[in-house]
Amino acid sequence: MNCYVHDRSAAVGICAVCQKAVCRACVGADAPRIVCRACLEQRAVFGFEYRSAAAIGGWPLIHICLGMDPVTMRPKVARGVVAIGNVAVGAIAIAGLACGLVTIGGASVGLVFSLGGLAAGLGFSVGGLAIGSVALGGLAIGFVHGIGGAAFGPSIIDARRCDRATLDFVRQWLGSGILPPNCR
Ligand SMILES: [Zn+2]
Ligand SMILES: [Zn+2]
Repeated sequence: MNCYVHDRSAAVGICAVCQKAVCRACVGADAPRIVCRACLEQRAVFGFEYRSAAAIGGWPLIHICLGMDPVTMRPKVARGVVAIGNVAVGAIAIAGLACGLVTIGGASVGLVFSLGGLAAGLGFSVGGLAIGSVALGGLAIGFVHGIGGAAFGPSIIDARRCDRATLDFVRQWLGSGILPPNCR
């Protein structure tokens, strides 16, 4: 078997992406898998990728990436002002693992707002386990306010306590519908 570009050179392997035989000179990357130069340059994604032409500060306005990087075999990271993917980093990030200012995800790290099974941030966090200035969750750890089944923070509402400052905050911003019965 010879290289598909250089038909006189013996192939050293098969590109994991395009399945063509490549010689030593044509290997673009050999770890963790052999990938030819052409595929390495394209970095085509298995799955779906959309990147808006509009960009702000070098970041695409919208980047949706639901696929694997063929070279590393890791989920490709969506990176954009609005990022949606398996792993997303952006001002607004929605993903299994999301990082950004406003995030929604299984594990969500948002500076301003995060929503997820595990939500952590400096702003408003909502999740099974929520950590934030204002944390709302089954287990809520708030730097200012914590609201949840079990809440920790300077001012909290949970099954046992009902602090005035948090009560005022909830009434003003969230509505009293979310208050536990002991607090209404
Ligand atoms: Zn290839
Ligand atoms: Zn070659």
